[in-house]
This record gives sequence, C-alpha cells and structure tokens, in this order.
Amino acid sequence: MDAIVALAKRRGFIFQSSEIYGGFNGFFDYGPLGAELKKNIRDCWWNDMVRRRDDIVGIETSIIMHPKVWEASGHVAGFTDPLVDCKVSKQRYRADQLFFAPVFLMENGLEKQIGYASAIESEDVARDLAAAADKMIRRTGRRVPVFTDAAAVAAGNAAIHARLGPIADLASVSSRSDIEEFAKQIPSPATGEPGSLTAPRSFNMMFQTNVGAMTDASSVAYLRPETAQGMFVDFKNVVDTGRVKLPFGIAQIGKSFRNEITPRNFIFRSREFEQMEMEYFISEDADWATAHRQWIEWCKNWLLSIGLPASHLSEYDHPKAKLAFYSKGTTDIMFRYPFGVQELWGIAARGNYDLNQHATASGKPMEYFDEASKKKFVPHVIEPAVGVDRILLAVLCAGYAEEDVKDEKGNVEKRTVLRFSPRIAPVKVAVFPLLKNKEALVARAKELHAKLQRKYAVFYDETGNIGKRYRRQDEIGTPWCVTIDFETIEQDGTFTLRERDSMTQKRITEAELFALLDEQVY
Ligand code: ATP
Repeated sequence: MDAIVALAKRRGFIFQSSEIYGGFNGFFDYGPLGAELKKNIRDCWWNDMVRRRDDIVGIETSIIMHPKVWEASGHVAGFTDPLVDCKVSKQRYRADQLFFAPVFLMENGLEKQIGYASAIESEDVARDLAAAADKMIRRTGRRVPVFTDAAAVAAGNAAIHARLGPIADLASVSSRSDIEEFAKQIPSPATGEPGSLTAPRSFNMMFQTNVGAMTDASSVAYLRPETAQGMFVDFKNVVDTGRVKLPFGIAQIGKSFRNEITPRNFIFRSREFEQMEMEYFISEDADWATAHRQWIEWCKNWLLSIGLPASHLSEYDHPKAKLAFYSKGTTDIMFRYPFGVQELWGIAARGNYDLNQHATASGKPMEYFDEASKKKFVPHVIEPAVGVDRILLAVLCAGYAEEDVKDEKGNVEKRTVLRFSPRIAPVKVAVFPLLKNKEALVARAKELHAKLQRKYAVFYDETGNIGKRYRRQDEIGTPWCVTIDFETIEQDGTFTLRERDSMTQKRITEAELFALLDEQVY
C-alpha cells in the first residue's frame, strides 16, 4: 500500500487535499494523471450503463436538495454511526471499529482479569489486541504468559456490538450509566490508558450547511450523502418526459459527502467522494431476485471489462437479520485490497420503500401506469451503487507490479508497472522520435502525435534513451509506445509498437495503430 500511495503522489495521480496547509483528513485531490484515470472510469461506466442501453437514462441532480428529502429518506433520523470520544486526546472512534477484549493473568492456577485491551479494527486486530494485552501484563512486572479471552478476540465484532455498539442497541442491554462506567474501563487507543472513553452515541454523518442569508434552524440543509435520492425525487419527471417503460433505470454520477468518523485507507473511505448509482425500476410483481442477480453479474462483468482480475473479486450477502425492514436483499461485490477484502459495489433490492416515502412526505403520487397490465402501482427498485474512488484505488492496487527486467544490454533492472486496461489508462499511447536532434524523425512523431490527440489521450516524449522512456510510461500504465525511427521515414512508413505487459515489439502501420486503438479503447 505504501508503494502505491508513494507512486500515486510521485506521478501525479493523487495528492492530499490542501497539502501546503498540512492536508485535510478525508479529502483528496486528483492530479493530472489521476483526473484522466477517474474520468475514464466514469466515461466507461456512463457509456456502458447509459448510452449503450436502451432501458437506462442518465440524469444529474443537485448536491443540495430540499431538506425534506433527507427526512423522508430516513437519513436525518438514521444515517448515523456509533461514535466514541477520547476526552484526553480528543480523538474520535467508530464504536463498531473499536475492539476490546478482557485480559487475564493466571494466579495460583486461577484466572484473574486485570483489565481490557483495545485496538482499532484491521486485518490484524487479534494480533494488535494480544500485543496490547502483553504490554499491560509487562507493566504488572509479571512474566507469565498473557492471554486475552480467545473467544472475545475471535468474536471481535460481536463483543463490541453487544457492549459498545450503537446506543439504540444498548438500551436493552444495560442502563446508560452502566454503559458509561463500562466504557471507562476500555483503554483509549490514543493514550493506551482507560478512563477517557465516552459511551457510544449516534453521530449523523451528513454535512450540514445553511442556505440563504439566515443561519438558523430554518435554513439548515445538507450536502447529499448519496446520489440515489436524486433519482427517486425526479422519478415522476423522468417518467413523464423520458419515454421510459418498465423495466427501466435512471443513472447518475456525482459527488457525495459523508462526515466519516474515521476516514482511512487512502481514498477508500473519504469524506468527499464520487458515486455512480443506478436505480432500476421493475414491476411490483416482477421476479426481483432474478433482476437482482442479473445486476450483480452485470456489475462483476463490468469490473472485469475495466481490467480488475476475477481472482480479487468476491460476493458478500448481507445477513437477512441485518437488513433494513424494507430491504429484500443486498449483495456487495468485494475487492481484495492490500488492507483486506472490502466492499466495492453494493447491489440492493430496496422494494418500493423510497418512492413510497417520498410519495407520503411530498403528497405527490409516485405510481406508474403500466400499459400492458392496465395496472397502477409504485415500482420496486434494484440499486447498484459504487464509488468511483474505490474503483480507482482497486485498479491502482490490482495493476501495480514491481518486476526485474533486462535492459538492451542484458543488465537486470527494476521496472514499476501499472497494468491498466487500455479502456481506463490515463495515457493510451506514447509517441517517441528515436532521436530528438533529427528533424525528420521529430516532425513525423509530432505529426502522428497530433493526429492521435484528436481522439485519444497521448503523450509525446523525446528525452532520454528509449529504454528510459518506456519505463516512464510503464510506471503510469500506458499500454503502448510507438517509436518513429529511420525505417519510418526512409522506408515503408511503419513504426515500432511496444506493448507494455509483454514488452514485445513489432512494426505496424498508422492504419493498424488506429484499428488497434479503436478495438481496445471503448
Ligand atoms: P461502507 O459500509 O464501506 O461505509 P456503505 O455500505 O455505507 O459503505 P453505500 O451507502 O452502499 O456504502 O454506498 C455505495 C458505495 O459508495 C459503496 O459501495 C462505496 O463504493 C462508495 N462509498 C461509500 N462511502 C464511501 C466513502 N466514505 N468513501 C468512498 N467511497 C464510499
């Protein structure tokens, strides 16, 4: 992960936001190559999801919507994470990511609990808890083996949910004062000492702002935490104007904002991010499970089409018990990031909850008249929702490789390569004149470069030897390099095409180059 973050910065893919002021946690900027890469991901999705389908239309709705939208959608009341504060360090933690385990010492053959160890959720949380417990025991001056309650470590999340979970869940477990007392026994991860953690409380993740000149309760509005509500709120407008017929979808790409308590893992969880969401409306008596499965398959195939390896993808079905009451089922497509297997794309079958909520709150009917059955009903929906930034991080992680290769003289050297699919690579082709001081070579290279530039993102480079120029392009994921040499200008006009992954070279004509690009970049 460190190597990927370093490359992202060095080659201008991703910078910390406001870096000159020390950065701003949870916000990122995309540099020249990152902006291209991100745009390509967006364009591929929009082309495949909207333009190349007859049953899906695209819209663009505003980021700040009427505050009643978020009341009706349930976000004002329920878009919360459980938050725990450390009163000493002023750090904040998500209670469901703060793990703890009781620590025991053996004394005269009896187990004696000496306190709790805590750690923040990670792939290695059990190891971190054991290390924290080990530290505790050393402080007692004892040198006997330490053990944490193995069951608690294994159960991890279950333990925290039962004892430090969201307040709403705790009401039946114990009284508020019991919870507060209990939280004081858990060491703060910041200080390593118990006593400073508060009991968990619900924290709404929506960013608030005020619209208009007044800053009072009546002017409060929110930055949208998802783009989906735009599609529900505009459902009637699209039906009335879009000449759409069930089943059909409404898609949107745009920024969303969540005041995440613990933004982390680089751009994986940030506070400002971009979503690509689609609401696929189906009849009330359609087979939702089949439609849901079809969308899961569509999403997986799309990820493969932009170059993510099948070996890194898996599915996670949300347990029925944890689904919202209206939800029929949610499946996440998971991706194996260097920091663990995490959600990339969520595909939810949401019934007709959202449209009904807005119908009730706005007083405007959301029914659809089905010509075929002559029936009026509120359609159900399947929602594939994905983050652009999470896809971008996935393609960076899957594409990154360091290899030993031989240069022209047979010496072994390191090459760093990003194996981006040509569909999303920020630069499609690099054009080199063999020598920069030969006017005819330079002129032909510049001519080809200009011609390619009309359709594709291309890069012209004349500095350094060809091997160095290849390495620079490998590192930013350019699939092909072409070199204009003396054969080009003195003989048949062909040039050398060098392929990034195989590093093989062959001679091709200009027409063949354009045909190759046409086939691979779509
Ligand atoms: P998580 O459980 O990881 O917080 P979520 O289940 O809340 O995600 P959804 O509300 O389903 O996420 O949002 C749909 C998609 O938007 C996610 O699958 C993810 O790709 C993306 N996404 C959500 N939150 C963030 C974030 N803070 N930063 C970047 N992308 C995000």
